[in-house]
Amino acid sequence: MQLTNRAKQVDRKPMTWLESIYLWNILKGMGITFSHLFKKRPTISYPEQKRSFSKVFRGLHVLNRDEEGRERCTACGLCAVACPAEAITMEAAERLPSEENLYREEKYAAKYEINMLRCIFCGLCEEACPKDAIYLSQTFAPSNYSRKGFIYKKEDLLIPNPVTEPEAYQKALGDKAGKN
Ligand code: SF4
Ligand code: SF4
Repeated sequence: MQLTNRAKQVDRKPMTWLESIYLWNILKGMGITFSHLFKKRPTISYPEQKRSFSKVFRGLHVLNRDEEGRERCTACGLCAVACPAEAITMEAAERLPSEENLYREEKYAAKYEINMLRCIFCGLCEEACPKDAIYLSQTFAPSNYSRKGFIYKKEDLLIPNPVTEPEAYQKALGDKAGKN
């Protein structure tokens, strides 16, 4: 019984001598390969050449600082709660009176980690943050040889200090420049 009308009758005719030596099929295959020599290459020589990303591209996370160079993150945990991949972990600490120039809020993230192997770059952590302390940049996590290398720690994520390293800060800010 035929369930659909998509079934095709297989041609079981014996091959001719010309068909049995596959010459025509080989020539056809080589013709396709040869035609690609004159087509525009779809690949680029990465990492020397890079493609430009879409404006809405969401890449590697950056932990932000304020204009005085203080860490914005207050370790509230909202980004971790919002994360559907459970990729974010952190440990909070109380700011000491002598650390007011380091941390903007009374509580800060002593440890902050993102597992980039879990992350799906949805941007929900950025949306959830009430302190503008995290955003997804226009770069992506480089390849690595071990799983451990994809656990990004606070020191990997933290943006350079705009007071002590203004050039590095502007570079890291990328497309975010002017929006802060
Ligand atoms: S981008 Fe999405 S998946 Fe990645 S850490 Fe943020 S909330 Fe989690
Ligand atoms: S990055 Fe934002 S949401 Fe996440 S813990 Fe820090 S302040 Fe809270």
